[in-house]
Amino acid sequence: MENLIGLVNRIQKACTALGDHGDTEGSGIGLPTLWEALPSVAVVGGQSSGKSSVLESFVGRDFLPRGSGIVTRRPLVLQLHKIDEGQVEYAEFLHLPKRRFTDFSLVRKEIEDETDRLTGRTKQISIQPIHLSIYSPNVVNLTLIDLPGLTKVAVEGQPDSIVQDIETMVRSYVEKPNCIILAISPANQDIATSDAMKLAKEVDPNGERTFGVLTKLDLMDKGTNALDVLEGRSFRLQHPWVGVVNRSQADINKNVDMILSRRKEREYFATSPDYSHLASKMGSEYLAKLLSQNLESVIKSRIPSITSLISKTIDELEAEMNQIGRPIAVDAGAQLYTILDLCRAFDRVFKEHLDGGRPGGDRIYGVFDNQLPAALKKLPFDRYLSLQNVKKVVSEADGYQPHLIAPEQGYRRLIEGGLSYFRGPAEASVDAVHLVLKELVRKSIGETQELRRFPTLQAELAAASYEALERFREDSRKTALRLVDMEASYLTVEFFRKLPQEVERVNNPQGSNPTGNNNPPGPGGNPAAPVIDRFGDGHFRRIGANVSAYISMVSDTLRNTIPKAVVYCQVREAKRSLLNHFYTQVGKKEGDQLAKLLDEDPALMERRVQCAKRLELYKSAKDEIDSVSWSR
Ligand code: GDP
Ligand code: MG
Repeated sequence: MENLIGLVNRIQKACTALGDHGDTEGSGIGLPTLWEALPSVAVVGGQSSGKSSVLESFVGRDFLPRGSGIVTRRPLVLQLHKIDEGQVEYAEFLHLPKRRFTDFSLVRKEIEDETDRLTGRTKQISIQPIHLSIYSPNVVNLTLIDLPGLTKVAVEGQPDSIVQDIETMVRSYVEKPNCIILAISPANQDIATSDAMKLAKEVDPNGERTFGVLTKLDLMDKGTNALDVLEGRSFRLQHPWVGVVNRSQADINKNVDMILSRRKEREYFATSPDYSHLASKMGSEYLAKLLSQNLESVIKSRIPSITSLISKTIDELEAEMNQIGRPIAVDAGAQLYTILDLCRAFDRVFKEHLDGGRPGGDRIYGVFDNQLPAALKKLPFDRYLSLQNVKKVVSEADGYQPHLIAPEQGYRRLIEGGLSYFRGPAEASVDAVHLVLKELVRKSIGETQELRRFPTLQAELAAASYEALERFREDSRKTALRLVDMEASYLTVEFFRKLPQEVERVNNPQGSNPTGNNNPPGPGGNPAAPVIDRFGDGHFRRIGANVSAYISMVSDTLRNTIPKAVVYCQVREAKRSLLNHFYTQVGKKEGDQLAKLLDEDPALMERRVQCAKRLELYKSAKDEIDSVSWSR
């Protein structure tokens, strides 16, 4: 049984060494805490209630800082280890593992110095504990946590918030169901006003884990006694109350030996008319034994749940570590390999977006299927081929000599002018697909799990991809515009040869068919106009209709060919060579430039360190527990 307290001691030390103070703020945000799960005895009480005195009498030594104001400003984890009679008594701090203190006044000095090291001269408090182990033949195996005394007012030089801060810290300890509360109240004060009992009642209303301790029995007014409290009538607790008599201030000043004062305490109870019937269950030695036994049995009952908590947490932490990823290799070759691997992962996600499997690629088809046809339909050909404009363009093309049969130049100009309208929708399709591709790059970077940790590489990848897409866009723009220009550079002769009204006009120059109603519709669906007057409105209307028919034929063609150009130049290239340029650049980089690309988010690096430390803690705790189970 004895090694159970030692086991918890070792786990407690590992907690402090690895930064688990049970707080979930600062760098420890969201990390599981083992500290909280460990059974412990916390000493609480108002200022000057006798906390330090009780602890010192447990140890049989003078070693705690004294003074007015708030002396204890960090939790002191006091681990007492019983050693065999005759062995050398010594103390050891966790933060000074090599040094054995045999002079206990130096222990006091070190506690003060170590308190100030963290809290500074400002007299703030800190949740980070100081661990002190004392090895002595005069102790029982016991671990206690000395907490700052509950107080009502801050003293000179201390911030007002300290009163609340102390209460919060003490509460955070005593709230845990695994905490045994050593509640210290002075007997020369009304128990109803005891800070310790007030807090204990709040967090442990049934008194299941509270040990009530009454100090200063010797200082009670003559003729009064504390039997109502000690016999459990004033304040019911599941455990018996224990009264103690510590050294008075006068004894301290006279440097009365602690072992001697333990004897005096025994004598006090043995000879006291009020308490002699309780003598065997009073005094600090009895209290220490009582606590030791209780702590052991609490630990024993909690070991199974602690063990399962540890296993569960190890799994969770390992899962998180896997998710965070391993730390990056240091040599350039491995770094290059990592970078290329990450690029490939990104490229895979990007391609899935284009080829399906992930959404987004369909928006490119949306450009071809909706946006482009709609833009083509919206082109202002009605206005362009209005009678007035047709007349104007044809006349200007004719010059001083009006055309004789058909306005060859006029047709060409009208068609060329009309075709130039297609440039707009062609460019718009290129741009629209460009935007879709850019968006898919952005999404793919975000979705590539492996890239999450590398913000610099993410940015570089995005920049390189956007640059490549820009090049593809330029190429695509040129190609699409070239398609339009090609249409303008050589007109489809067939179309004009087949125009029925032209055929008729040539065959029948006298215009014997004035109504023209028997003419079949032209290719554009426009009924051919009758030939009445070569230079009348009908003539120009017919020209306009022919041009319109031609343009709509070209429009149909472009509606099919522009998507081909866009896919060929942008989409296909993006799939084939989005990162080619980037790969060449990366290949030329030196070691430290590669390392820069693999810069991680500092918060993530910190998280990895914290998780690793916590994992180490849980694993060492598991080893400790396993070894104890084996040895028993
Ligand atoms: P803390 O502030 O709770 O740590 O209280 P201390 O242990 O420092 O005690 C405060 C003062 O009360 C000191 O002067 C002690 O000597 C004195 N004191 C504590 N316990 C007793 C006791 O049982 N009897 C007497 N006479 N004095 C005590
Ligand atoms: Mg004290």
